[in-house]
Amino acid sequence: MSEKIIIIGGGPAGYTAGIYAARGNLAPLVFEGFMAGGIPGGQLMTTGAVENFPGFEKGIDGQQLMATMRQQALNMGCRILTEDIEKIMLDKNPFEVLGAESGLYQSQTLVVATGAAAKRLPLPSERKLWGKGLSACAVCDGALPMFRNKPLAVIGGGDSAIEEALHLSHFGSKVYLIHRRDSFRASHIMRARAQEHPKIEILWNKTVEEFLGESAVSGLRLRDTVSGALTTLEVAGAFEAIGHRPNTALVKGQLELDEDGYVITKAGSTETSRHGVFAAGDVQDKKFRQAITSAASGCMAAIEAGRFLQETP
Ligand SMILES: Cc1cc2nc3c(=O)[nH]c(=O)nc-3n(C[C@H](O)[C@H](O)[C@H](O)COP(=O)(O)OP(=O)(O)OC[C@H]3O[C@@H](n4cnc5c(N)ncnc54)[C@H](O)[C@@H]3O)c2cc1C
Repeated sequence: MSEKIIIIGGGPAGYTAGIYAARGNLAPLVFEGFMAGGIPGGQLMTTGAVENFPGFEKGIDGQQLMATMRQQALNMGCRILTEDIEKIMLDKNPFEVLGAESGLYQSQTLVVATGAAAKRLPLPSERKLWGKGLSACAVCDGALPMFRNKPLAVIGGGDSAIEEALHLSHFGSKVYLIHRRDSFRASHIMRARAQEHPKIEILWNKTVEEFLGESAVSGLRLRDTVSGALTTLEVAGAFEAIGHRPNTALVKGQLELDEDGYVITKAGSTETSRHGVFAAGDVQDKKFRQAITSAASGCMAAIEAGRFLQETP
């Protein structure tokens, strides 16, 4: 029997799509994944306090927020399977979806909400200090008290790295922008903003050898890529901005993706290049990458899927 809607992803986008689809009487089936592209609950499962999701005046723990969202989806009538999708076949009508354990499903519509993952530096000290003054999201974590009026570092050289540095300049006493080359790949306007900013200092030709600190970041050991010299930089926080990897392996070659591998959606919509397939959350958003924007697009995807079902005989 064909499902009306299958939602792939159990982050803010997937659960919110589930809540709206259940309320729209679409009897949604949600695959929240297991290990293929993150974990059930998504990226917020790896963080502590979430202070910018509306509705929680004192903030909320990431895992608690996602457990509550999941329970709300169940209460509304969603069926949730903790299982990876291994393959989807968009050339079939209805679409076909292969679950890693439970096998083949058919569905009239699909919501792809498989998220993205921040690229991270492959250093043992990085693993040790992750979440202890080391983050990949300045918008999420930059305002935390531990970073206020302290020297901070951003690692990267693209537009996102400069955006992170500019954001952090509101909180830190100084922001070091650490770049492994001697010029930015960021756009001209962003480069100028960083170079002219009184609180931002750019350290060219440097890579991070080690994050220093025991219970929290206290500094960075940097290597000069030209001379090979090692130096120590004291900072109270570090933000990696070396790019994100959208989880689009499932749809590669079947949906239109942009040059960075994100699903392309129509402006103001979650419609993809394939009629009846909608994409929500970080998998189609390299600009905002927030829980609230992901949840919002999950809502849009469920509503658009419902309208598609009404209009399609
Ligand atoms: C450390 C950290 C802290 C953050 N802090 C904040 C914050 O304070 N505030 C904020 O707004 N945002 C924050 N963010 C960003 C926020 O987490 C993301 O924007 C949001 O989680 C994206 O939601 P999503 O539903 O699109 O994807 P994700 O949360 O990435 O979830 C993707 C889901 O898809 C599933 N999946 C992937 N592949 C498959 C597959 N093949 N089959 C089945 N399921 C699959 C995964 O299991 C997962 O459940 C933070 C991110 C990180 C990494």
